Amino acid sequence: MSEKRIYEYRKEVPTHASADVVVIGGGPAGTAAAIGAARSGKQVILLEKSGQLGGMGTLGNVSIFMPIGNVTGIYREIIAETLAQYLPEGHDTSIAPQYSPFLLRHYLNEKMKKEGVQVFYHADFVGTVREGSRLSAIVASTREGLRAFEGRQFIDCTGDARAAIDAGVPYVSGREEDGLTQPMTLMFMMQNTGKPVTPLLPEGCYTYNDVSELPQGRRLYWERNSDGTLLVNMTRVKGNGARIEDINYAETEALKQVFSVANYLQRNGFETYVLSHVAGQVGVRETNQIKALYTLTEHDVVGGRRFDDVVAQTNYEIDIHSPDGKKTTDERKVSGYDIPYRCMVPDSLDNLLVAGRAISATHVAMSSMRVQPTCYALGQAAGIAASLAIDGGLACRNVPIGELQDRLVDQGVRFIK
Ligand SMILES: Cc1cc2nc3c(=O)[nH]c(=O)nc-3n(C[C@H](O)[C@H](O)[C@H](O)COP(=O)(O)OP(=O)(O)OC[C@H]3O[C@@H](n4cnc5c(N)ncnc54)[C@H](O)[C@@H]3O)c2cc1C
Repeated sequence: MSEKRIYEYRKEVPTHASADVVVIGGGPAGTAAAIGAARSGKQVILLEKSGQLGGMGTLGNVSIFMPIGNVTGIYREIIAETLAQYLPEGHDTSIAPQYSPFLLRHYLNEKMKKEGVQVFYHADFVGTVREGSRLSAIVASTREGLRAFEGRQFIDCTGDARAAIDAGVPYVSGREEDGLTQPMTLMFMMQNTGKPVTPLLPEGCYTYNDVSELPQGRRLYWERNSDGTLLVNMTRVKGNGARIEDINYAETEALKQVFSVANYLQRNGFETYVLSHVAGQVGVRETNQIKALYTLTEHDVVGGRRFDDVVAQTNYEIDIHSPDGKKTTDERKVSGYDIPYRCMVPDSLDNLLVAGRAISATHVAMSSMRVQPTCYALGQAAGIAASLAIDGGLACRNVPIGELQDRLVDQGVRFIK
């Protein structure tokens, strides 16, 4: 094969909007970061590449919150406002409510309006404009072409650390020994029709006859009995969702598995159910982790480590879907630990934070901190930290931790001692 050419692409890009804080990616971390900054009195722009907020929860239909044992801050508020029946009295009682991805999508749209956050949908991050140790703007691909968005502080919530990596922040991917990441899963829903249905199996799909033949070697679903909805997490495709060839393969292979698993379920216990919804894109569990001032480790997670600069807390288990194509899942309970602010702070830049699943963490530690409630918590902390950095004219690494924690408490966060 001939050597691939490298092109230099130069273009003048007009500025479309400016704000104090620019958040890139509107998933759990990004929406909470935007709210955290807006409630600190800052003008906030939120850029989202798709047409909806909520990240994997809505786009990937991962519509169940995993239990974290600290139902707090903006996450608690979302539960109170959308799923009040599940709200625990205390902050340290775990809940795992299933929700409607359609309602959460609508709720987050309206929430951003109420908070005064300027959301740009279909704004796909392209590149950073870096001047010394600071970012001055980011460039996004919009419906009108490339546009710049200027800010004083930037928060990368893309899940893949796309902006941080573009700006030169070092990163790692997957297991320390071989770089393999957790596999991808295309989520789907089935609906009880109340009468027997004819199982469907399009050409080219698989016939599974036994649980051991299923992609995960197990049945994993949640039934919303009140409305007959079944949420199914049973497909599995090996690969790293931040790589072009891997995601290409995953999108087609996972859809074949959706039809095949649905067909299996229609023959094994769900004889009255039809396939009613397939997520618009395959769900990506793990891609890139930045290297920040501190890297959360398995030792910290297992040992229940506490940190002076704690900004989020969780006791979600270690939960590793086998990265190497096996049908196993490594699940280990943990008692509870802190996530320090430093995991979100790259060393080399003064005005960029990374929140959500791409924070600095080892493969094992990330498998526990990656769930939605924890990402909301990290985002909220990043939003407030960005605001404090602006107020104090400080680099992110110098944000006063005591004040950050006080502001988190003011915004409804409770830290478990
Ligand atoms: C199959 C699967 C099952 C899971 N099960 C559960 C579960 O049951 N419960 C649970 O709580 N968690 C679960 N998780 C984990 C959880 O959903 C994610 O880890 C969490 O959503 C990560 O939040 P985030 O904000 O960091 O990133 P994401 O949710 O990935 O959000 C990132 C956002 O950034 C946007 N974005 C990305 N790139 C760009 C760009 N270039 N420009 C602009 N925007 C961009 C994306 O469109 C997206 O909206 C699961 C994940 C998967 C994949």
